[in-house]
Amino acid sequence: MVRAVLGLTAGLALGAAVAAWISAGQAIGPVLDIVRPGEFIGRAASFVATAETPGAQFLTLTAHIEQEGTVYPLFSLDDPAGAALEQETDDRLRISRTLDRESHPDLVEGPARVVVTATRPVLFGLRESGSETATDVTVRLTPPRLTPLSTLHYVTHGGAELVVYRVTPEDAGSGVRVGGREYPGYPAAGAGIEGRDDLRVAYFALLHDQDLDTRIQLYARDPAGNEATADFAHRIFERQFRRSRIPVGDGFLRRVVPAIVAESPELAGEAADSSTAPAELLQLYLLINGQLRESNRAAIASLAAETAPRQLWSGPFRQLANSQVESGFADHRTYLYDGNEIDQQVHLGFDLASTANAPVRASNAGTVIFAEYLGIFGRCVVIDHGMGLQSLYAHLSSIDVTPGMPVDRGQQIGLSGQTGLAGGDHLHFAMLLQGRPVTPMEWWDEHWIEDRLLRKLREATGTPTSR
Ligand SMILES: [Zn+2]
Repeated sequence: MVRAVLGLTAGLALGAAVAAWISAGQAIGPVLDIVRPGEFIGRAASFVATAETPGAQFLTLTAHIEQEGTVYPLFSLDDPAGAALEQETDDRLRISRTLDRESHPDLVEGPARVVVTATRPVLFGLRESGSETATDVTVRLTPPRLTPLSTLHYVTHGGAELVVYRVTPEDAGSGVRVGGREYPGYPAAGAGIEGRDDLRVAYFALLHDQDLDTRIQLYARDPAGNEATADFAHRIFERQFRRSRIPVGDGFLRRVVPAIVAESPELAGEAADSSTAPAELLQLYLLINGQLRESNRAAIASLAAETAPRQLWSGPFRQLANSQVESGFADHRTYLYDGNEIDQQVHLGFDLASTANAPVRASNAGTVIFAEYLGIFGRCVVIDHGMGLQSLYAHLSSIDVTPGMPVDRGQQIGLSGQTGLAGGDHLHFAMLLQGRPVTPMEWWDEHWIEDRLLRKLREATGTPTSR
């Protein structure tokens, strides 16, 4: 009887051990993730992977890249091979290292495979459980090629220009870099140039606050991160920006400050009405002219992302009919209160005055992308003309359009007014390139449009001339 019980107990224990052994063999191995590279390995790539298991207890952890039957090690616990190993959490390790021409000079262009394997101890270290993950990649080592095609690039300070160029491969992103600012190029078909898939058109600008000797060049970047730049001949012309002094009076502050405070979510904590003390109104005005101006400009700049990849406009841009220029582009303004300097700002548009509530018309064909109240701009409309070009109409008393609406050149979009930071009824008109203000004067000028833009686009349809 006792022997039978013992036998049964031994049998059960053995059975449990066998079950534990088997289930340990099926235990989940470490969780592996290859973070980088993604789809491509370029001339300067990196390898990043994470490996997770309870207590970060690994028996083995290795990574390699294989190509055409050859295995190139990337990492192992015994031989980190220059990789950095860091413990991200109690359970997770992160491996990172460079994976470039210097570290792996024998990689060639074409398909390759990155593999990570790991094992962890299970059943008190009596057994182990392993896992493997892999990702297929393409090695790309040839940098993009850029060929400028257009000629006679003349850039006036604060103004725009256009360059036509060729870029290969076709999946490379490209454009013009002016100092630290990039202006993407668009397929030339969007500007009406058919025939070649490698042709690009990029509008760019030397902004009013950039130096005259700012570097201007073409850039291209393929999805593997390979980069190329190319210079193209251009001349820079100086422009004089005016300085003006603007007196700020209590009557003006009483009219504009409470209205802007009421309409601006950025100033939700503030309050102002007709009974607010002049000193307090002045403080709010400085907040509006400074921080709110910055915030409103950033909101306008972000609209650049919504530009169409094709040119929606044709012919010169229209100026407000029968209007008088009250203030020009990039005027440097000093603000005075009681004869004392209180602030300085740069005015990044044109102020055009006509009669009160004058019809405001789309300066050219495009799509409305913004139509609402926006702080210093008051009631404001932005029209996208494609390829990064947009026009802005501010201080309107009423708006006749809604976002998404296509408009023709000359179509009425609202009435002029004095909403926002406006001293009287006028239209504040601005032209924007990739969200950055450029002088509207060029776009109003038929000859500039012909010489600087249309001629280059026409020439690009012919045989490319050598430089
Ligand atoms: Zn203005």
